[in-house]
Amino acid sequence: MKIGVLALQGAFIEHEKTLHSLGIETTQVRLPEHLEGIDGLIIPGGESTTIGKLATSYGLIEPLRAFARQHPTWGTCAGMIFLAQDIGIEAQPILGLMDIKVNRNAFGRQVDSFEVDLEVKGLDGGPFHAVFIRAPLVESAGPEVDVLARLDDGGIVAVQQGHWLATAFHPELTEDTRLHQHFARMVRGT
Ligand code: GLN
Repeated sequence: MKIGVLALQGAFIEHEKTLHSLGIETTQVRLPEHLEGIDGLIIPGGESTTIGKLATSYGLIEPLRAFARQHPTWGTCAGMIFLAQDIGIEAQPILGLMDIKVNRNAFGRQVDSFEVDLEVKGLDGGPFHAVFIRAPLVESAGPEVDVLARLDDGGIVAVQQGHWLATAFHPELTEDTRLHQHFARMVRGT
């Protein structure tokens, strides 16, 4: 099994390190041909507008969309924005796949970044320590979307829709590998 990590901008190295610690082979995806031979894809956090611009200039938008339609794909933070169908802005290039409406700057400046222990559906072993950095929030999710985690105030921060996973926080920035293991199981189909 090989998992690709979109490596245009953002925290792709950290995702690769976590996957390597689990003995999973990775490849950096920068061009359409890098999608060949991978079984799943992670779209990292970073700046979704920059990722969108670079993906457009490298001719990646349509190949990424086609890949994600067929294979497990996980977006973290900016990656969540990139996977969403509705981000309330028309001009920004996104893949537009998951039936979620995402607010890009839900937390405003005062609470730019925060950490919180989250109960994540399907993860055994207690709460997941989640790091949020200028995080998006899922404002609404369609009927096919499984909500995996919410903040105390009810805000949705982790979702799964079939073979698509999206988290508003950054699991690659903590030592907890359970979400990467969950994604690896999705990729393996187990
Ligand atoms: N707010 C950022 C964006 O719009 C996402 C931040 C992140 O990925 N840490 O892309």
